[in-house]
Amino acid sequence: MTSETLHAKLKENFGFEKFRPNQENVINSILCGKDTLAIMPTGGGKSICFQLPALLFPGITIVISPLIALMKDQVDSLKTNGIAACYINSSQTSDEQQLLIENLINQKLKLVYLAPESLQFLENVINQITVSLIAIDEAHCISAWGHDFRPAYTNLGYLKNRYPSTPILALTATADKATRTDICEQLQLKDPNIFVSSFDRKNLSLEVRPALDRVKQIIDFIENKPNEAGIVYCLSRKTTEELSEKLQKKGINAKAYHAGLDNKIRSKTQDGFINDDFQVVCATIAFGMGIDKSNVRWVIHYNLPKNIEGYYQEIGRAGRDGLPSETVLFESYGDMIQLQNFASQGLNSEVQLAKLERMKQYADALSCRRKILLSYFGELVSDNCGNCDICKNPPAFFDGTIIAQKGLSAISRLKETETLPVIIDFLRGSKNASIYDKAYQNLKTYGVGVDISWYDWNQYLIQLINLGYCEIAFHQQNKIKLTPFAKKVLFDGEKVKLTSIQKINNQPIESKTT
Ligand code: ADP
Ligand code: ZN
Repeated sequence: MTSETLHAKLKENFGFEKFRPNQENVINSILCGKDTLAIMPTGGGKSICFQLPALLFPGITIVISPLIALMKDQVDSLKTNGIAACYINSSQTSDEQQLLIENLINQKLKLVYLAPESLQFLENVINQITVSLIAIDEAHCISAWGHDFRPAYTNLGYLKNRYPSTPILALTATADKATRTDICEQLQLKDPNIFVSSFDRKNLSLEVRPALDRVKQIIDFIENKPNEAGIVYCLSRKTTEELSEKLQKKGINAKAYHAGLDNKIRSKTQDGFINDDFQVVCATIAFGMGIDKSNVRWVIHYNLPKNIEGYYQEIGRAGRDGLPSETVLFESYGDMIQLQNFASQGLNSEVQLAKLERMKQYADALSCRRKILLSYFGELVSDNCGNCDICKNPPAFFDGTIIAQKGLSAISRLKETETLPVIIDFLRGSKNASIYDKAYQNLKTYGVGVDISWYDWNQYLIQLINLGYCEIAFHQQNKIKLTPFAKKVLFDGEKVKLTSIQKINNQPIESKTT
């Protein structure tokens, strides 16, 4: 199909003049019948990627979506555009469902939204309908490596077996590399095309503050912006309630939101926030998925988030209209300990702990925070952003090119198969088992960093990760890998600035002495 035809369809059915980045690529990939993974930031326009092809295909498009409330909104807005769509979920009576199933069989519908729990409905119609496309929204929910694992999603691997020749489109806003791989494997995608849109949200300022007296800091912050709506994310339900009370006592119009509240109260709070009836919502991470409010001017994290994926998604709820918006993260050592306890008791504890550690490294970072976030999602940028606290108030840097060259060569000599502690032992010429068992003492670069302490190497290597020269492969036992940027330092003479300033509470979690 030509680009003109696709644009005409876009205009005719949705009223838009142009495609957003990657929308057209994703649509073309699906139209060619390819399994496709689309990673686009929230608000990036994922829905069009399956809604438009749905109109072009002869059969039905099945959309798997985790949130019943979201389905209704999407279906309503499709109907407004004159597109035949429905949803089937547990909120309906069986008579209602029966009618929808008949409509499906009679080809009166183009799109059907299903909760993953409702997959068995397909069995009733399986031989009577043609399925042209299967779209899986919020696809990261299938991965226990991601930040929002939902057991019902694990059954979705079944779809490929059931419909081997139907293309599957997996969509998500938040998948780091490990989660991406996992999504493709779990859904059994066949040689998928993967499209990753830029995650850069230049209009969001980034700031990390120590959590000293954070309630007062938050009150001061809000009092400076009396008419601007914002969200304070808290770890516990109790904190959302306590904090909203404290804010109310100061005359700030705030409400609490968490999954433990009555459904009615929750939807009232959501609607009230969207309609600007009150200014601040103090919420757990239960708040936000699918809330389309464009003028959220700030997001505060009262507690350290569990990982960078969740954090980035949460701050991404600010400034959807593209106007400047602020984000502040409070870092406390106590939170870190609590989160470590949670992570070590949960599913996949090793991966979750490593991701938490990376979150802490972000909070402790001394280089451009946006660079860290973007490189976490696989996007390498050379320039500092100018819109984070580090860029605005940089620490003193020294020329760390030689240190960087030594560190990156060590990673390369060890064939990108080792974790940070072993790399540091190797650089420092340690004589312990992790080195001798593999005869690493015979490799070049062994011991070239003996003049730098273990602690400093740890700091410098974390800075190199933050700068995007290397990365932690969470899905491969936290081995350190080089990124394409490393080449610039190793072969092209790129200069690297490092700093030796250290955060007071920046104790390495897995500290190790040689
Ligand atoms: P996501 O699911 O990625 O968060 P949506 O599909 O809900 O994003 O789209 C976000 C908003 O952008 C919606 O209001 C949608 O109508 C709008 N939108 C999507 N594609 C386009 C486009 N090509 N041009 C203009 N607006 C668009
Ligand atoms: Zn910056």
